[in-house]
Amino acid sequence: MFSDPNVQDVIVIGAGVIGISAALALQADGRKVTVLDRQDSSPRASDMNAGAFAFADIMPLAAPGIMRKAPKWLLDPLGPLSVPPAYAFKILPWLVRFWRSSLPDRYQKSLVAQASLMTLSQEALERLISDTSADELIRGDGQLQLYESEQEFQASLPGWELRRKRGVSFKLLKSAEEIADIQPGIDSRFSFAGFTPDWINTCDPAAWLSHLTAAFRTRGGNVIEANATQLRSTGNGVEIQSVNGTHFASQVIVAAGAWSHHLVKTLGETIPLETERGYNTTLPATDFDLKTHLTFPGHGFVVTRINDGIRVGGAVELGGLKFPPNYKRAEILLEKARSFLPGLDSKTGKQWMGFRPSLPDSLPVIGHSSKDKRVIYAFGHGHLGLTQSAGTAELVRALANKTQPIIDLAAYSPDRF
Ligand SMILES: Cc1cc2nc3c(=O)[nH]c(=O)nc-3n(C[C@H](O)[C@H](O)[C@H](O)COP(=O)(O)OP(=O)(O)OC[C@H]3O[C@@H](n4cnc5c(N)ncnc54)[C@H](O)[C@@H]3O)c2cc1C
Repeated sequence: MFSDPNVQDVIVIGAGVIGISAALALQADGRKVTVLDRQDSSPRASDMNAGAFAFADIMPLAAPGIMRKAPKWLLDPLGPLSVPPAYAFKILPWLVRFWRSSLPDRYQKSLVAQASLMTLSQEALERLISDTSADELIRGDGQLQLYESEQEFQASLPGWELRRKRGVSFKLLKSAEEIADIQPGIDSRFSFAGFTPDWINTCDPAAWLSHLTAAFRTRGGNVIEANATQLRSTGNGVEIQSVNGTHFASQVIVAAGAWSHHLVKTLGETIPLETERGYNTTLPATDFDLKTHLTFPGHGFVVTRINDGIRVGGAVELGGLKFPPNYKRAEILLEKARSFLPGLDSKTGKQWMGFRPSLPDSLPVIGHSSKDKRVIYAFGHGHLGLTQSAGTAELVRALANKTQPIIDLAAYSPDRF
């Protein structure tokens, strides 16, 4: 594939779940893959997320009507959406794009694209679990989406109908008693719900990533500490400058999560990637007898089991990469969880903030750079990076090996903006 001994075959930038999954997929085709990661203290979304393989969540966030809800959420200090005042001006162009993506015709296109990536990702995950013997890291406890009022439940029905059309099995529940049969201990104000029995989670997203990284290493892959600062096209390869030295590769995959746009910029390409900062608190498992993954869609948070803990988290803070975490947001979620699950006995917990890498139309970027076809982008998976990682990896492999991707990639193209 390459003749210059200084030029490596493939370099992946980013050792999060997207980068490592792509690295493993490329390796399966006999490619020689090196992963660069700066391995600093910036929180990596892949380590501490909610662990859900949310294949049923096919509806893009940028949906019709969302802009009517946003002001109400923004004005509520306990609401699921916040924008630090100092970032409001900076985020405006992204929000305008987000609004445009929520218009009915664009939403329909995003919905189709989201659904096909979900189908591919679900199938690809099954292959990955089998290929890396990862069954022990998967938990199949289902998921309950809980609604506080009949009005909220009625508003959710079109979404359930879409899921039905995509073959997702579920049961709609219309009483607190039916809900208690699946998960006791939920406040009776939640008397409507949808239960998705086939929903799966990883027992721990950090363990999932470690498992994939170990498999990659065992199969001859290298993960090197390097903070990439610049990409440059050269005659015989792509040059990656890093604080730790210069690397060359015949192909480069950019999978640097919420930081990807900075690297892409050095190639001369602008991609409107922002970050939706999310918060959670991990409590001891003894605090609540959790039977299934709980989602409170009206409040933008979930309660989920992570190994021997319970993680309460979610929220969206459109605050960029530089502001320090505002853990008040994690406290607000915990306060709500205590009120929705009256038996939740939570005195201590570990707080965390992470950066969801998000594009305005809720779809990732998966495709060749328009500046250099030897560079492939795989980032911007927002709320669904763990869910879509195995499918994204198979698409990256097809792009790198110049074979036909299994789904049409136009909707994820880097130059769609
Ligand atoms: C609170 C919360 C809950 C979530 N829950 C879920 C869930 O239940 N299910 C789901 O599917 N998704 C969930 N997500 C989203 C998911 O975590 C992300 O979409 C996903 O982890 C993104 O993976 P990534 O590999 O693109 O980025 P990251 O995990 O952030 O990894 C990026 C990597 O790139 C490296 N890097 C960055 N810049 C450079 C550079 N210049 N040089 C070298 N290395 C670099 C970083 O060090 C990092 O290791 C959640 C996110 C949050 C915040």
